[in-house]
Amino acid sequence: MSRPRIVIVGAGFAGFRAARTLERAARGRADITLLNPTDYFLYLPLLPQVASGVLEARRVTVSLPGTLRGVRHVLGEAGRIDLDARTVHYTGPEDDTGTLSYDRLVLAAGSVNKLLPIPGVAEHAHGFRGLPEALYLRDHITRQVELAASADNAAERVARCTFAVVGAGYTGTEVAAHGQLFTDSLTRSQPSLKDLRPRWLLLDVASRVLPELDERLSRTADRVLRERGVEVRTETSVKEATPDGVLLTDGEFVDTRTLVWCVGVRPDPLVDSLGLPLERGRLLVGPTLQVPGRPEVFACGDAAAVPDLENPGQYTPMTAQHAWRQGQVAGRNVAASLGGGEPRPYRHRNLGFVVDLGGAQAAADPLGIPLSGVPAGLVTRGYHLAAMPGNRVRVAADWLLDAVLPRQSVQLGLVRSWSVPLDTASPELARVPGGRRAASSGPGAAHTGDTGNSSAPLVAPSTGTPKNPRPDTPSEGGQ
Ligand SMILES: Cc1cc2nc3c(=O)[nH]c(=O)nc-3n(C[C@H](O)[C@H](O)[C@H](O)COP(=O)(O)OP(=O)(O)OC[C@H]3O[C@@H](n4cnc5c(N)ncnc54)[C@H](O)[C@@H]3O)c2cc1C
Repeated sequence: MSRPRIVIVGAGFAGFRAARTLERAARGRADITLLNPTDYFLYLPLLPQVASGVLEARRVTVSLPGTLRGVRHVLGEAGRIDLDARTVHYTGPEDDTGTLSYDRLVLAAGSVNKLLPIPGVAEHAHGFRGLPEALYLRDHITRQVELAASADNAAERVARCTFAVVGAGYTGTEVAAHGQLFTDSLTRSQPSLKDLRPRWLLLDVASRVLPELDERLSRTADRVLRERGVEVRTETSVKEATPDGVLLTDGEFVDTRTLVWCVGVRPDPLVDSLGLPLERGRLLVGPTLQVPGRPEVFACGDAAAVPDLENPGQYTPMTAQHAWRQGQVAGRNVAASLGGGEPRPYRHRNLGFVVDLGGAQAAADPLGIPLSGVPAGLVTRGYHLAAMPGNRVRVAADWLLDAVLPRQSVQLGLVRSWSVPLDTASPELARVPGGRRAASSGPGAAHTGDTGNSSAPLVAPSTGTPKNPRPDTPSEGGQ
């Protein structure tokens, strides 16, 4: 008898864990294929530290071939899935196409930046959902400080040293907290900026930072941010973004060249194309993570609406904690469906949250115990090291180096503004000139200071269509 074919789409928290669980359960008795556009698992929670120069980019990646040896890796993005024929059609990195047949399918394609219909935002803001965006932001911030240092005009210096972050969930809060430390260190090496303290604004429509977390964490984060000099503006958002700055909902116009969009995420548009029932854009599954009426299809992580058995009537939030554990349950239940035991429902109680605020500061509530200051910092970093499925020593080494050496103020300029548009179904990949994903709706580089020395054109030729047509999916806050 031929071995069952299992295809997993997406190698993030959920897909990576599902693959690892299945690899161990199957022991060579099944063909496990992992389809992912990159050859690495990305540890997203440490992305703010990449953008602020604490960690080098490869530290937050874990090689798929290096860790999942019993799994076949296919580089590519799923485009069309034929549920009746049980096939997944994909496009590879060199625009080659292929088809994978399956007996069991695990959908774990994650999420993408959430957009709001605010004039100018799609053109002038950058998201924070993938490694290219983090690399872009690190370079962009460094470049703004360097351009400010050489500017004759005081207004330009101030504008270039002003940074606006929208969305005070854990992503935006960490980006602003780390960002202020980063720009403070950059300006220290610029004598002409010695009298100019970079200005960071953190905006949110909610009445407190970290609105989705325990209030005690919000209070800690709010205090640390304000003490550090970040302007926390709650109940405030952006009314319009322009090449020169942002108009806030309270009427103030802020001159800036940097708008970081961290208002949340929405499920990857891939799930919308299946024609299956959705819950606010996420693929509806039962407690065993199977799609109703399609028992051979499983879904988990941000892309799936998983009933929260701890909070009946609700769905589990889009967090790494849930995605990681759902991946394990999906892996076990796939094995069970192939004769390896009984399927189990997904059930998980929140174990707390950690928010790294840079330096020795953090806000954390492990097992519901609120912590701040150095203890929270230690718990937070210890948690990340324990949670990473690899590369721990390199991450710890970077933290150690960052504690004793100044940050490197060098911009490589390899990721251009137009190659990381906010509106993309593939935040994990930077667009390339002339490629299939070349910008089709403009470069969005108007105020982003892409004046570096790369020979890449500022406006990419529009030669193709993006991976998935962008459906008008209802959005889901992941922050
Ligand atoms: C900056 C940031 C910080 C965060 N910090 C925290 C935190 O501190 N704690 C926490 O709990 N959560 C955090 N989150 C949220 C958490 O990272 C997500 O909830 C989690 O990554 C979801 O896991 P996932 O497997 O569903 O998706 P992902 O981890 O995003 O993985 C999805 C995978 O699918 C791939 N993929 C996408 N489309 C396709 C396709 N068409 N074909 C093939 N592959 C595809 C992607 O490349 C990716 O590898 C953070 C998120 C961000 C962006």
